[in-house]
Amino acid sequence: MIPYLDLKTQYQSMKPEFDAAVTSVLESGQYVLGKEVGSFEEEFASYCQSRHAIGVNTGTSALHLALLAVGIQPGDEVITVPNTFVATVAAILYAGAKPVFVDVHPNTLNMDPSLIEKAITKRTKVILPVHLYGQCADMDPILEIAQKHYLKVIEDAAQAHGAEYKGRRAGSMGVMGCFSFYPGKNLGAFGEGGAVTTQDPALAKTVKMLRDWGAEKKYHHDLKGFNYRMDAFQGAILRVKLRRLENWTESRRSLAKQYDAEFQDSEIRIPNASYSHRHVYHVYAIQTPKRDELIQFLSQQEIQTNIHYPIPVHLQKAYSDLGYHSGDFPVAESLCQNVLSLPLFPELKPAQVATVAEAVRKGLAKFS
Ligand SMILES: *Cc1c(COP(=O)(O)O)cnc(C)c1O
Repeated sequence: MIPYLDLKTQYQSMKPEFDAAVTSVLESGQYVLGKEVGSFEEEFASYCQSRHAIGVNTGTSALHLALLAVGIQPGDEVITVPNTFVATVAAILYAGAKPVFVDVHPNTLNMDPSLIEKAITKRTKVILPVHLYGQCADMDPILEIAQKHYLKVIEDAAQAHGAEYKGRRAGSMGVMGCFSFYPGKNLGAFGEGGAVTTQDPALAKTVKMLRDWGAEKKYHHDLKGFNYRMDAFQGAILRVKLRRLENWTESRRSLAKQYDAEFQDSEIRIPNASYSHRHVYHVYAIQTPKRDELIQFLSQQEIQTNIHYPIPVHLQKAYSDLGYHSGDFPVAESLCQNVLSLPLFPELKPAQVATVAEAVRKGLAKFS
């Protein structure tokens, strides 16, 4: 069996380091925020080429607080994309704003900058691009449009730890970047976690207050805040993992390159990594119109796959009240029919990549 993802192997490969980190938190008596979270924040900020990082309990909370910190008010509009994890859109709604979708570009699968200006209204406050699959959105035109219209850019970097766009790291380009440390992400906790990165000390201070009940000083609540604190175990574990992240990312990139080469002479559409400098391959997604047949075939060969995502957010039942319809975003809608995520994690073996690729080619030959 080839799993889509294997988190246990990573734990076992560094068991003494993780066990020591956990024990040291147990013995410290400090279980929420504290020294380990503070040190992780410094290390992660520097990793992201940012001056500040604020640890929170989930990536969703990171997005929620980033939107509140820029002063989003009920009725404001936030421009984002429909082919994302539902949390991007949920966070906009938590902040009281209205999500406004623009379609993605068929080459980048990320926000299509040429469609943004048509979506801007008097109520637009924020552009929220998602760095899907570990590849940065096309940030230069996005930042330029934002500047021209006095809008803020907040990056959903939940899938893009360490990704780069023209040498700049994900989370360092907009006013804030939002990360998730959900276990399956490129940098994953042993539980839930998230962070906001920013270059702006005032925004950092606001997010820091909002995550801990709006108080700078205990029991003095200057802002209406939340309990979105990161726990100390996750801080300690993430510090251990951050030291290995570059190695793991290089392993992902090299396995992705191997998939690319395996599919070179087939009709399969492979990820286009040409416009950005560093794709970190949170997901390796191919595109084929025979997707559903292929999943069946691969699962018979005991190869696990995934779909990111089968339904675009604007067509999800829960969000039908946003007023969008089938046909509104043809590129995102067609991707949902055609994308297929293949097994990819740092500990996957090149021989397993070869096995998966051969099965994919065999399957497609059978169905065409
Ligand atoms: C994972 C993810 C989130 C949410 O992160 P959680 O930590 O699960 O709350 C948000 N946006 C995107 C694009 C994600 O992939």
